[in-house]
Amino acid sequence: MPFSLYIHIPYCASKCPYCDFNSYAAASWPEEEYVRALIAELDRRADEPPFLGERLKTIFFGGGTPSLFKATSIGAVIERANQRFGLERDCEITLEANPGTVDYEKLAELRASGVNRISFGAQSFNDTTLRFLGRIHRADETREAARMAHRAGFERLNLDLIFAVPGQRLEDVMADIGEAAALEPDHISAYNLTFEEGTAFFAEMRRGRITPLASDEQAAMYAAVREELPRRGYAMYEISNYARPGREARHNLTYWRAETYLGIGAGAHSFARDNSGGGGRRWWNERGPARYIARAIESGCAEAGSETVERALAMGEFVFLNLRLREGFALDAFRARFGQSFDEVFGARAARLFEGAMLELANGRVRLTERGVDLADSIFAEFI
Ligand code: SF4
Repeated sequence: MPFSLYIHIPYCASKCPYCDFNSYAAASWPEEEYVRALIAELDRRADEPPFLGERLKTIFFGGGTPSLFKATSIGAVIERANQRFGLERDCEITLEANPGTVDYEKLAELRASGVNRISFGAQSFNDTTLRFLGRIHRADETREAARMAHRAGFERLNLDLIFAVPGQRLEDVMADIGEAAALEPDHISAYNLTFEEGTAFFAEMRRGRITPLASDEQAAMYAAVREELPRRGYAMYEISNYARPGREARHNLTYWRAETYLGIGAGAHSFARDNSGGGGRRWWNERGPARYIARAIESGCAEAGSETVERALAMGEFVFLNLRLREGFALDAFRARFGQSFDEVFGARAARLFEGAMLELANGRVRLTERGVDLADSIFAEFI
């Protein structure tokens, strides 16, 4: 089965105060060594099951800020992945970029190196909001970056937005959506700002210096986003993701469908399905870039931990990950993967959710209702 490859680049120009990703502010970074480490990992994985002999259907450079790396570095990794695994003909290759880190030349070089989808962390088109979020770019840079990406030949373009930022009003969120859509991306992700433990925002919130928006305000914004983006031609296909027809992020579909993916780079996670019982194995790399580089270059492996995903856990994960998708999952797919029916495994729990109009069954598929989307987190918790 073709699989997906995630490549983590952990460096950023500065650390955004809401960010809990494995990313590090750096004025310079050991790009050459990091690429050597990535290639060493690719080489080792290509020689071992479960990836030996398998082809790639998607590649995603995430971070961090992958656009800090030279296009030649990105191209070298794609080239090696192609040599060692082979890319499917329509392989989707995405790179996350900060609008403040690209110019036309860089974008054209990235396109030439094989990247065929760009994802800009736009977040907002209001400079006050961007400053509050600690972003290094301004709204004009996003507008310019999106136009340059189109000119450089990127037919596939995502813009990330964040809503429910303290101080934001509903009309500000609607204005951001209008601005984003005007740049004609084929995909928009809209995330509700969260205050994750360990972030600067979380500490500020604890000290009472930042107050999150009231939950009913946040819910109203989410409802408005869910209505406005489809009205503009971006169908909601996942809790936070919207796309023009056929332009869903195929890489992320791998995660939501609980399929196999290899993650390389500092702190990257991987999951490999075990085709016999429906469970699998999950593992993750060293988080710190220096340790990651040293271990990967030495042996091609920088694994820091792993766990077996037992069948029972895998069944729950399959359900709640797939329920993130508006199409949900086919009952037949559940049975084919686990050899038991959804009803047999989750009967009583699922029945309560059907009765409460949080889940619905249509054409052999289980999915969240509109009410279920509003209560998604508590529904997912039922299956863990
Ligand atoms: S640019 Fe992205 S990855 Fe880097 S600190 Fe900001 S939100 Fe986190």
